[in-house]
Amino acid sequence: MSRTQAMKVKEIDDKWTRPSKSELLKKLLNALFTREGKGIWSWWFLISRFTWELPQHILGIGFSLFTLAMGWVRDVYTYEGSIVVLRDVQGKKGALLKRNKYLSYLSGVSLGSFLCIAGRASEQRLQAITQHEYGHYLQSQRAGWLYLLVIGLPSIISASQGSRFHRKMWWERNANELSASFHKTNDLAYIPMA
Ligand SMILES: [Zn+2]
Repeated sequence: MSRTQAMKVKEIDDKWTRPSKSELLKKLLNALFTREGKGIWSWWFLISRFTWELPQHILGIGFSLFTLAMGWVRDVYTYEGSIVVLRDVQGKKGALLKRNKYLSYLSGVSLGSFLCIAGRASEQRLQAITQHEYGHYLQSQRAGWLYLLVIGLPSIISASQGSRFHRKMWWERNANELSASFHKTNDLAYIPMA
């Protein structure tokens, strides 16, 4: 890692002053029940969380509340109608990150509109992974109750086979394509996954 990159990681890390648990919970519930954008689609995306995409949202809410209760969550914020729950990394990798504040590491899982992202990195890298996970949210909007079976389960299996293998899978490439086209259509900046 170059020195400029290392400095960036540190700056981002310092910026994340952690809100209290009750503040985080308020942010999470607010985001969950708020319509983003305008028009009929914003209503549908809200209703869809409790109907068409219910199974993944139950998991998303459960997982987010669990990590929040454990005190791992750094921040909760919305991104284009999705809810980003940013948390610390646990286990050996987490300890390594704590010891060396210049290291960066990110991982993500998307459960309905919940983009659960763990780790610490430059703002650009965080944006890239958020946008990739957002692609899985777009898949969830399309697949509904089938999402966990068609995307979720194969994803867990392929991710366990290493990131190089995982990235080649159709559901991963499809997430990138959907997200890239969403950002292009809405005139938003898009950073491809490196
Ligand atoms: Zn993915």
